[in-house]
Amino acid sequence: MSSIACFHCGRPTGDGLPICTKCTEILVRMLQSVPGLVADMTITQARLDRMSRGRVGGKSADTPLPISIDKSGNVPIRRPFDLLENEITTWSRDFESRISPAGSLLAAIERPGLLQMTLNCKTGRRHDQSTLSTQPTRLFEEFAVWLACHPHDLRMHPAIDEMFDSLSDVIAIVNKAIDQLPELRYKGVCQYVEYDQGRERRCNADLYAEKGEEWVQCPRCRASYAVAKLDRDILAQMREMNYTAVELQSLLRELGKRVPKSTLYRWINERKLTPRGWMRDGRIIQRWIHRNDPAVYRLGDVLDLATRTERVRS
Ligand SMILES: [Zn+2]
Ligand SMILES: [Zn+2]
Repeated sequence: MSSIACFHCGRPTGDGLPICTKCTEILVRMLQSVPGLVADMTITQARLDRMSRGRVGGKSADTPLPISIDKSGNVPIRRPFDLLENEITTWSRDFESRISPAGSLLAAIERPGLLQMTLNCKTGRRHDQSTLSTQPTRLFEEFAVWLACHPHDLRMHPAIDEMFDSLSDVIAIVNKAIDQLPELRYKGVCQYVEYDQGRERRCNADLYAEKGEEWVQCPRCRASYAVAKLDRDILAQMREMNYTAVELQSLLRELGKRVPKSTLYRWINERKLTPRGWMRDGRIIQRWIHRNDPAVYRLGDVLDLATRTERVRS
């Protein structure tokens, strides 16, 4: 048995190949992350128009565009997207020409299974899968997932070390570009009702807005909503929901209510807040069974107390 060390981690690979199985798993996960990264880079034409307002004239087709924003201005740049597309396409073709039978990539693309697998991988940091069903899948996303399906063959690739390193570099560039995009905040689901063959069907697509944005458009049905109204609706729903003291602390912070941890626990100890139930195995139950089960409190009760306290103070 030859004692070749993995080029990435230095552990013996055990079989003379230049990469160990652990590092191959890292490569596979990188490849599987490609559809999610594309989703994160993909924004709608409406957002693009807004971000480059005053710079770009005219209106183009209302399709989602892959885009990222540069640091200083709002000039959209395609570079990280193009780099990623180029990287994946080049390595897929290379892999096919050296390792797998000619035509196997094209054959895989034509099978519906690969598209489904690609859609399953479309969970980004900024979006979840449910928002993305309306976005087109690009061929190179499927290429990446196809490559990820061949871990054993990938290890055989004579330039696997080069593939690993250059893909890591490109993914780092992409992640940096995604980090520079404005933050998205969840704003609930689209309430638009359509009639499909006489039956009511609610759109239910997830709505996200950028910080400071006044309007948000549904990515699926294009219905528009005032963000302030959505915030009010979400808050109204949340008021009726029950949370543990730990969850309440971060919620209150997000809602801009300054309630120190000590105050919250004092309210609980002084029974100003009464439990609405207890958490047990991830569910809220009405009876206190075990002393380790945390109590839950209605957010509305906490907010009312906070408002009253603020009023007394001022
Ligand atoms: Zn390794
Ligand atoms: Zn909608």
